Amino acid sequence: MSTTPGNAVTMEKILSLCKRRGFLFQSSEIYGGLNATWDYGPLGAELKRNVKEAWWRSTVQSRDDVVGLDSAILMHPNVWKASGHLDSFSDPLVECQSCRQRFREDDLESRKCPNCGGGLSEPRQFNLMFKTFMGAVEDTASEVYLRPETAQGIYVNFQNVVNSARRKLPFGIGQIGKAFRNEITPGNSIFRTREFEQMELEFFVKPGADAEWLDYWVEERMNWFVSHGVHRENLRLRRHGQDELAHYAKTVYDIEYRFPWGWAELEGIANRSDFDLRQHAGHSGRDLTYFDDETRQRYHPYVIETSVGVDRAALAFLIDAYQEEAVAPSKPGGASETRTVLRMDRRLAPVTVAVLPLSRNQRLTPTAKEVHALLRQRFNALYDDAQSIGRRYRRQDEIGAPYCVTVDFDTLDDRAVTLRDRDTMLQLRLPISRLPEVVEDKLRHGW
Ligand SMILES: [Zn+2]
Repeated sequence: MSTTPGNAVTMEKILSLCKRRGFLFQSSEIYGGLNATWDYGPLGAELKRNVKEAWWRSTVQSRDDVVGLDSAILMHPNVWKASGHLDSFSDPLVECQSCRQRFREDDLESRKCPNCGGGLSEPRQFNLMFKTFMGAVEDTASEVYLRPETAQGIYVNFQNVVNSARRKLPFGIGQIGKAFRNEITPGNSIFRTREFEQMELEFFVKPGADAEWLDYWVEERMNWFVSHGVHRENLRLRRHGQDELAHYAKTVYDIEYRFPWGWAELEGIANRSDFDLRQHAGHSGRDLTYFDDETRQRYHPYVIETSVGVDRAALAFLIDAYQEEAVAPSKPGGASETRTVLRMDRRLAPVTVAVLPLSRNQRLTPTAKEVHALLRQRFNALYDDAQSIGRRYRRQDEIGAPYCVTVDFDTLDDRAVTLRDRDTMLQLRLPISRLPEVVEDKLRHGW
């Protein structure tokens, strides 16, 4: 059995699979699409939910020292003044003096417009936040922004969480939610989009303990990707140089993934010092210090942030799972065949188990439906009786369903079915009554 490693796959193949099987659609496609915005189809929606669920479970629910939060997308405009986003969350852009198109200066090879060859203006700062208006009157008094990151919702609730959840340092607040950035050069499908979803953890620590906790979270986050199916050789850690550090950051690491177009950022892990809490204390006039029982001191905690895009992570999981392998012919003496298989972590797979009656036959259907009803109580179970059984196995392999259950004519007599494993293609015959526990066991421990 030969395999191709995930990083050898092309984006064309991934996007073709995504479109064909309903992971991703271009947004507003019937109107010609909206640049760099995407909709998740039936399978994509399941994958995305599972990625978020996996993050939430390991980062929030399974830890004693992290709690969750779900803050609003719209926030008081002063939040962005305090955070520095109003003043410095911008890109220097040049504008073409004839066609008016804007470009990032560092993307250009010459001082001429790549679109029409016209002359270019001097660079001007262009803020990346989306601005909108709250209320009926479009005046400056009601200008608000779509949040460019979820982190600020956590900082402004720091004191609320400390008091209501009675937290002691070190502890973190995790949040998953949409964020918006008016990127000038979006692209590579869902890698960089203007509307995206983040999974962020802000972990508050005692000043002085920050360097140690940064190392801890870098390690934790690398391990999270590996334990959810990303090959370690497709991940690397890059430390930001002094010249590229954001205004708030003391130390920043990127976890980079080997995408088909090259290494690119998957997750950022930053030591943000006490910058954010200090800024919000200053601008709001509220006390955002923490009282340390042990030292009897008040201080602004330091913050270690881990920040990953859901969309970007989902893309990396898809790419890393994609394999094409030569398999034995399905008929004796036939030509060898290729199967496309998403060897995705079982917890992330959009469909967990597919129920496949051997054929669309009146005698098989009631029992197959019964098996489906039994399994869907606990798993995302799909029912498929169209086309040959071989083609249906291939279809499930291609969307990464870890297990298929086949109901055949023997089932009608012995009440047993065949369970098939996606990765090894091994099969097991077992009674219907034992199916839920066996699938559960294999999900946890593998085949
Ligand atoms: Zn131009």
